[in-house]
Amino acid sequence: MPEARSIVFASGKGGTGKTTTVVNTGVALAKFGKEVILIDADITMSNLSLVLGMEDIPITLHDVLSGEATIKDAIYEYKGLSKVKVIPGGLSLEKLKKAKNYEKLREIIMEIQDMADFILIDAPAGLEMTSVTALLVGKELILVVNPEISSITDALKTKMVAEKLNTLPLGAVLNRVTSEKTDLTKEEIEAILEVPVLVSVPEDPEVKRASAYGIPLVLKNPDSPASISYYMLASKLAGVPYEPPKPESPLSRIFKGLFGGRRR
Ligand code: ADP
Ligand code: MG
Repeated sequence: MPEARSIVFASGKGGTGKTTTVVNTGVALAKFGKEVILIDADITMSNLSLVLGMEDIPITLHDVLSGEATIKDAIYEYKGLSKVKVIPGGLSLEKLKKAKNYEKLREIIMEIQDMADFILIDAPAGLEMTSVTALLVGKELILVVNPEISSITDALKTKMVAEKLNTLPLGAVLNRVTSEKTDLTKEEIEAILEVPVLVSVPEDPEVKRASAYGIPLVLKNPDSPASISYYMLASKLAGVPYEPPKPESPLSRIFKGLFGGRRR
């Protein structure tokens, strides 16, 4: 297999939707036939395996970085989807806090380069040592931002640091878009960040529900608004066409209500 594209998903501040984006974009890429490895490199809020419903993992990235296991021991196949592999983050993370461990992470990613088409890295937020070094781990960067000014200015700093480190900013995922007038627009955000907004993901209550079930939204509810956005992003990254489902017409909804749907 040729060398994987390694993409770091980062943000200025926490909670913008990095983990949600990594999981759903990764699974969508697999649905498009790509081999994917998801890495939880967020030491501050390690929750990738939770969103995937893979809590009971014996060996994690932490054990690999501390030298107690090899990377092959910490790669798990996501249940039912052989194209998705997961390297979970550990919960006892003291040792990981040292930047030199991220150098090791970089070596590890070299080791697994030929195992996948895409390596998606869930990075810690902020611009502390660990977050900055995490930017070095992938060759490309996607910023995950929300449509508010503080999120964008923080992301701009992250982008500038990434460029200094020769990590290529591909663009931004604009997450949790609402119809509020206070939301910054895609155009405003592109003007500030000077990168394209690759996709806008709407605020979607299904995201939290899927996460509570431990099932990626793109599998649990592939036609929900946020899912459609993640499939669109994956289709862009993979260069595979994707036709979003057409919104249901009011008439077909009525018919479904009459003849299909729930019966008692
Ligand atoms: P991060 O990894 O950047 O800290 P998460 O992916 O964990 O962010 O998302 C933070 C919270 O926001 C989670 O509770 C998640 O369910 C919620 N969330 C993320 N994206 C959306 C969305 N598009 N619509 C609604 N809730 C979302
Ligand atoms: Mg996270």
